[in-house]
Amino acid sequence: MISSRLKEILSQIKQAETNYHRKPGSVLLLAVSKTKPSSEISAIYQEGQRHFGESYCQEALLKQRELSAFSITWHFIGPIQSNKTKAIATHFDWVHSVDSLSIAQRLSKQRPANLAPLNICLQINMSNEISKSGISLDDLPQLCEQVAKLPNIKLRGVMTIPAPDDNFERQRHPYKMLYQATKKLDQYKLNTMSFGMSGDLIAAIAEGSTIVRVGSALFGTRD
Ligand SMILES: *Cc1c(COP(=O)(O)O)cnc(C)c1O
Repeated sequence: MISSRLKEILSQIKQAETNYHRKPGSVLLLAVSKTKPSSEISAIYQEGQRHFGESYCQEALLKQRELSAFSITWHFIGPIQSNKTKAIATHFDWVHSVDSLSIAQRLSKQRPANLAPLNICLQINMSNEISKSGISLDDLPQLCEQVAKLPNIKLRGVMTIPAPDDNFERQRHPYKMLYQATKKLDQYKLNTMSFGMSGDLIAAIAEGSTIVRVGSALFGTRD
């Protein structure tokens, strides 16, 4: 079942690339496996899926240990507590949810020297809800400038989790705004737009997403 859902999502991505004049293969599927067991990760790994996203550090480290024989690219996408930055800097290839200079500095300092630079996206709050993580779009240029200077991490782009909306045109709106703002910062050569989830991946691809983070549509609803 999970492998047929993987095929279905990959074909939706391909179709959306065609429909919205995106380069074939320009959108990466990140399988969001939080709360799901290693056996389910393994099942779609066997089908060729290589990028997995996790939100909880402890849970991710356990699964990484169980799956250490696999060549998985691990992405951290959850809220980052400062006491977890060392583990995150050590055990992940990407971090999508950086939303402060101090977290970026810790990740930079704690990234082991023998590993490639840690790929970083800055999380933007497009819904202006105080409670949610992410910086405002107005603060993006300054944080880019500061983070781009840090060693051992590589600033790749931006990530956002907009407020859920089931209307296709309204889903596109925050992504369009974020894409336009990011394109203005061309000196940083940002090439990653981490946006689109199970409910809005087509709208996200229409607006320039390069990584869609899909959980429930792939693994089924979480408890
Ligand atoms: C859980 C989660 C997802 C996946 O959400 P679905 O709606 O299940 O696809 C994507 N991004 C982040 C940051 C998440 O925490």
